[in-house]
Amino acid sequence: MTQTASVNTVSGKWYPKDSSVQHAAQLTVDNAQYKVQIVAHETNKDTGKHQLLSGQWSHVEISDRLGNTERKLILADGSLFTTKDNEAIDRLITSNKNSDTASKWRLRLHHHETKMTSVLTMLVMTVIFAFGFIKWGLPWTSQAVAHALPQQTGTFIGKRSLDFMDRYFLKPTQVSEAKQQQIVSRFNARLKPFGGGDNIDYQIHFRNMSIGDVSQPNAFALPSGDIILTDKFVELSQNNDEIDAVLLHEMGHVVERHGLEMLTQNSLTTMIVILVLGNPDGISELATGLGTALVSNHYSRQYETEADKFAFNKMLKIGIDPQSFVDILSRMEDYSTAVENQENDSEATKQKEQKTTDSEASAEEDKLSDFLSTHPNTQLRIEMANKYSACFKEGLQVCE
Ligand SMILES: [Zn+2]
Repeated sequence: MTQTASVNTVSGKWYPKDSSVQHAAQLTVDNAQYKVQIVAHETNKDTGKHQLLSGQWSHVEISDRLGNTERKLILADGSLFTTKDNEAIDRLITSNKNSDTASKWRLRLHHHETKMTSVLTMLVMTVIFAFGFIKWGLPWTSQAVAHALPQQTGTFIGKRSLDFMDRYFLKPTQVSEAKQQQIVSRFNARLKPFGGGDNIDYQIHFRNMSIGDVSQPNAFALPSGDIILTDKFVELSQNNDEIDAVLLHEMGHVVERHGLEMLTQNSLTTMIVILVLGNPDGISELATGLGTALVSNHYSRQYETEADKFAFNKMLKIGIDPQSFVDILSRMEDYSTAVENQENDSEATKQKEQKTTDSEASAEEDKLSDFLSTHPNTQLRIEMANKYSACFKEGLQVCE
């Protein structure tokens, strides 16, 4: 089955329109005209080749080159010619002036793909673009989106998050009914008027939250206005002002829409899929993500500072010394550190028994990164609280 050794001839298979019967065939391009000839089967007593069809080469639709997969050419009459000889097709495209610019461009694209330097350039550009978008575009977009969303979105996502947390992280509270009532009614009378409008439906929930056997002091707010106080938090607080200071901080997160912002930022892609495809299942996934992030205290430093400022400003107006916030925060941290040290001690004893130097080194690293990530943050918060506390003691309602 040899052919006349023409550079313009390509061997392949030909399929008539709407038929999967294949014939060995040859495609020849000459003077901007193409010809397809069947290569006769050996049992065929024909003369060898017979002409089948021809037409303008520029009317042939050529599939893009994908590595070395078979190339498909749709001929003018709708029939199909396929070949594995990609090099020959590329040659035909470039050598024929009439081949359309689009396929020439595609050809160039293929060459780009194969050139390592081009690939690297594109990769670097993509990384730079992605970095720029994540660093500046995403926070900006997230903020815009979060503040443009109606409060109902926050309500819907917040309720789902609470459901999820109740199922996986939270347990029923042991705080007495009377104590709960006292906190809630004080919240309604004293704090709610400063909560950023009537459209936020604030609700306080009491839950126990434990990691292992250790009850965790924590407070967090959902975009719906649901604020969760853990049993250990209530237990560690020593007066009403401390509880209210933390509640105001949580209200700050709600008013500034930090939950929605974080959610948007973390899942902008998922969000787009939901908006475009209208897939409501995605929303539940987002709510799950928020629940996990909030329980593990993953708000950024910037969000915490904003919520702190919100709380301190309101405290000056209500008449709460911002020092109360520092007091309860320090007590919560002391408690967590004490628990951690206890765990580390027992861990260290275990390690000594095992005498594995590797895990000792990694325990050391853990401590170091903890120290770096939490302490300067806490220090800054305390400094800001002290500034506001000084204003409070001077009887000021605004502190700049
Ligand atoms: Zn916070």
